[in-house]
Amino acid sequence: MPEWPDLAVVRRRLQAALVGRRIAHASELQPLVLRLPVMGPLERVAAGRTLSAVEHRGKFLTLALDDGGQFVINPMLTGVLALTRRRDACIRIEFDGSANLDYVDPKRMGKVYYVPPGVARETSVPGYANLGPDASLEGVTAQDFAAKGRARRCEVRNLLLDPTFIAGIGNAYADEILWAARLHPKRPAKGLSAQEWNTLYAAVRDVLAEAELHVERDLPPGLGTKIRDHVQVRGRAGQPCPRCAALIVRRHLGYMETDFCPRCQPDPSGLFPVPEPGRGW
Ligand SMILES: [Zn+2]
Repeated sequence: MPEWPDLAVVRRRLQAALVGRRIAHASELQPLVLRLPVMGPLERVAAGRTLSAVEHRGKFLTLALDDGGQFVINPMLTGVLALTRRRDACIRIEFDGSANLDYVDPKRMGKVYYVPPGVARETSVPGYANLGPDASLEGVTAQDFAAKGRARRCEVRNLLLDPTFIAGIGNAYADEILWAARLHPKRPAKGLSAQEWNTLYAAVRDVLAEAELHVERDLPPGLGTKIRDHVQVRGRAGQPCPRCAALIVRRHLGYMETDFCPRCQPDPSGLFPVPEPGRGW
């Protein structure tokens, strides 16, 4: 599942490998992924264009072309970009000089939108217009973060996942951030203290920056895979907490699951005590 740190690293790799290169061919090898609002094949809008920039915001990567056209990629849970040729590619963009970019998505959950020159991403890519600040929190102060968060009537984990609040945090890093901030996932956002808001703000930045370093170190040059070995609590239910050695628990929150440490992340209100193993909330 590509999350913010994966996309941050992929953006830098694509920037270094592909920007300034001319597209020789572009082909749609598997249907259901590409959203092309113009007549004709992908080849017609892309071939001959030069890639001018690669941008990352939230869960979207944008490949900007020199004529003003853009490809906006939302990989969702399963999409992966690869600089190597993959047998299972859905979309392949071949550049002069034998550079190559494949979009691979075995479950076809992700989407690749082509946005023609003169058209805004906000009007043509679902979800783009309502994006909040990027999860890097660049330009967002701790005070703004707390003020906007306090105004929401939701639990703190759902707040982190809401792309209109911060764009780019998924289930895995929501759990990691809450563990780092020692916050129970079901704490109501409006009930956090000033100190807890400061801690949460720092945790968002620190956890993502640290994860980005790990991904940068472990992601192979050709990309095409996901790196998630550095997590502390996500997917580690039943294992000892790295901080206090209590066993990490997994609980359902609606249709999602959350992993956390019941000792490091208690609910001070006592409204949501951690139940016996095997029971619900
Ligand atoms: Zn713990």
